[in-house]
Amino acid sequence: MSNAIPAGYKPQTSETLPDYLAIKLPAAIKLGGTPDQWQVTEVGDGNLNMVFIVKGLAKTIVVKQALPWLRAGGEGWPLSLTRAGFEYNALCHEAQFAGHKLVPEVYFYDQEMALFAMEYLTPHVILRKELIAGKKFTNLAYDVGTFIARTLFHTSDIGMPADKKKALTAKFALNHELCKITEDLIFTEPYYPAERNNWTSPQLDADVKKVWNDTQMIQVAMRYKFKFMTEAQALLHGDLHSGSIMVTQSDTKIIDPEFGFMGPMAFDIGNYIGNLLLAFFSRPGWDATAQACEEYQHWLIGQMEETWSVFVTHFRQLWNQKTQGEAWPVEIYQQCPDNDLAHDAREIAQDQFFETLFEDTLVNAGMEMNRRIIGFAGVADFKLIDDADLRAQCERRALAMARELIVNASLFENISSVGQFVLKGKYEY
Ligand code: ADP
Ligand code: MG
Repeated sequence: MSNAIPAGYKPQTSETLPDYLAIKLPAAIKLGGTPDQWQVTEVGDGNLNMVFIVKGLAKTIVVKQALPWLRAGGEGWPLSLTRAGFEYNALCHEAQFAGHKLVPEVYFYDQEMALFAMEYLTPHVILRKELIAGKKFTNLAYDVGTFIARTLFHTSDIGMPADKKKALTAKFALNHELCKITEDLIFTEPYYPAERNNWTSPQLDADVKKVWNDTQMIQVAMRYKFKFMTEAQALLHGDLHSGSIMVTQSDTKIIDPEFGFMGPMAFDIGNYIGNLLLAFFSRPGWDATAQACEEYQHWLIGQMEETWSVFVTHFRQLWNQKTQGEAWPVEIYQQCPDNDLAHDAREIAQDQFFETLFEDTLVNAGMEMNRRIIGFAGVADFKLIDDADLRAQCERRALAMARELIVNASLFENISSVGQFVLKGKYEY
């Protein structure tokens, strides 16, 4: 795939999109009425692309188009248009394994226009906004845990035949520009005085300097950068934070996998857990009373614990029932339920696997927290706290916890000990 802009590429606008869709939209997708009756609104609150809602008389769809640069960085930060294709492909693979209950349906992809159309999610709202508003969701942990388990298991060497898995690796290998953004923004820039870093200053100046001098933490960060770059374990969503999840009280949809590539499983899980913890530490900026703050923080810790345990339970189930996948092959770990020895051996193998994954997940969670506070792309959970002193207090505690997760990941026995530790709040940096 070339990075050149295709000859027919043209950024769409609310005015041009109806005529374009009239030609390109598959016949099965009937918006109803004529193109001049379709209402188009651009809603891209994201950082990278144009997102249009196209409302016909019978049906509404969403059209997402990549721009040849990164929206948040302006035209000075060029970025390949191929990311639209990677996002489309990732959505297709995710839906194959996690189903349309958790992943929006896609309608068509136009490579030349770097654009695809998908299901309009309504009345769904971006989870991050809802978390800031202090809302709770009954099915969220179950849904996210299930999504992660299914997508990671079925695209890994444990659940997918080696030839297919390697073909999948090849398919996503060229999404390297988006990987490079992660490598720079998460794994490198927060750990030295990079130009794009952006923290609450001057309140956090001393804290950020401490991070830059923290050789012990930086060594771990660099080790995990290498793991991110080399461990092609499974098809990652690649950007699984609370801004990539849309929710209603009963429904959860995971959107925006344009960073999708074959990477370490712990990255996706750690990303999500890191964002729950960012929400946790931001609460004093949002809740009116100490009691409300404590109560919501407990809910967030519950979410962290439940998401992890749903993930592990579901992944184990898939593994127990597996019929293919060359890693831990069925021939070695027999499926016969009354073959106790084989059953035990498989369980031991799984325990070891989850132990490593758990430690890696905690480190990745800590890395996500650091980068959202020190690096280029902050999160609204903190950014929208107007009082800079209060914001800095919240962020300082988050940085202290992030360091614990990165440097002392191996000391946490299980996810509830992480929860207990966070709630006790006995950490300083
Ligand atoms: P970007 O990759 O540029 O960050 P996103 O995929 O995150 O773009 O989309 C930007 C915003 O558009 C989302 O925050 C959400 O509000 C809205 N959006 C995206 N996809 C859909 C959809 N399928 N249905 C409804 N709204 C959507
Ligand atoms: Mg995006």
